Amino acid sequence: MNYQELLQLDQQDPLHKLREAFVLPDDTIYLDGNSLGPMPKVCAERAQEVLHQQWSQDLIKSWNTHQWIELPSKVGSKIAALIGAAPEQVMCCDSTSINLFKVLSSALLLQPKRRIVLSLNGNFPTDLYMVQGLSSLIGEDRCEMQLVEEAELEQALTDQIAVLLLSHVDFRSGKLLDMARMTKLAQQQGILVIWDLAHSAGALPVALDDCQVDFAVGCGYKYLNGGPGAPAFLYVAKRHLSKVSQPLSGWMGHKAPFAFTIQYEKPAGIEHFLTGTPPVISMSVLDAALDVFANVNMQTVRAKSLALANTFHQLLTSHAELHELTLLTPLTEAERGSQLAYRHPQAYALCQALIKRGVIADFRAPDILRLGFTPLYLRYIDMWIAVEILSDVVKTAEYLKAEYAVKQKVT
Ligand SMILES: *Cc1c(COP(=O)(O)O)cnc(C)c1O
Repeated sequence: MNYQELLQLDQQDPLHKLREAFVLPDDTIYLDGNSLGPMPKVCAERAQEVLHQQWSQDLIKSWNTHQWIELPSKVGSKIAALIGAAPEQVMCCDSTSINLFKVLSSALLLQPKRRIVLSLNGNFPTDLYMVQGLSSLIGEDRCEMQLVEEAELEQALTDQIAVLLLSHVDFRSGKLLDMARMTKLAQQQGILVIWDLAHSAGALPVALDDCQVDFAVGCGYKYLNGGPGAPAFLYVAKRHLSKVSQPLSGWMGHKAPFAFTIQYEKPAGIEHFLTGTPPVISMSVLDAALDVFANVNMQTVRAKSLALANTFHQLLTSHAELHELTLLTPLTEAERGSQLAYRHPQAYALCQALIKRGVIADFRAPDILRLGFTPLYLRYIDMWIAVEILSDVVKTAEYLKAEYAVKQKVT
């Protein structure tokens, strides 16, 4: 594969024009959209509008006139379309961690005779920490965490388990789990299933309804490009909504918030999962960011994501000096998400040296160089340039400079 061929792939790419929807700094190849998506141009416009027209001019009237109050459900519906959820099952609110606390509590309340929450050792730490927090609050006799290796997962699905909590795509390795299969196997044992979509919403087709998933949560600032700390989302299957309840029963999740009654009253629908006042500025920005997906087919996104990653990996393996980078991500397409993770003894320094040269990746302890492939704005030629720079950084031993060994707070 040469540069000319890659240029041609870009010209034929149905998503090529979408790159113009983003602000991307010059001389930068951004392979970290899986951690923080770049800014869509419409976000800046929307932020200006919310600040200078809505908030400053229309003040509190904006809750009605600019439908601020509808934002959690409006943004939730846009996300629903990306994750295979029929309307009225998704809300945009809070952070992924908080949303997980809510749905995890709900799931346990639906399982009064069971207490074990099963997850994987490698799951994203916040997910495990939230289980631990809930367990310390309500006691191990109501919530006990059990962790297994992925190879042991299927045999651990017994009628002793209350909840199965999995990330669709592993944040370290990029491994994609089979949502349909795992959900079915768990439900056959009477287990309720929660999926964390942080690394799959906006990255690949997700079919929550078709897979009959019980609950899901996910992130607004990664592939959805909602900006740093953007609000997250949660999904509760329609069949559970009338029976389910969650403990963070704030006024925004009350049947009639502005009746100001003493007693909490549960609404029939997904509104029950709201807690406090939505962060209007950041939720408006996420709302605008989601419009970039308006006419985008997720199958097209997926096909390009795989093609970009394949191109990168092929180019990388054609460089002898890069043999020390070993791929951790499964090469089988059905088993990987939208990132590649390579092990390297000096992964941190390598990552820092790459960033200095304009190739933005990230490092995950202990030895992983992680690269995200986001088809809305990456080009095939970016794969070429990134591998050329990586090769140069290794050949010249530039990454061994002392400055690249200094650990920063955020990696
Ligand atoms: C990024 C990520 C989160 C983030 O949680 P926040 O509460 O939004 O900070 C949660 N789970 C997974 C799997 C993630 O990758």
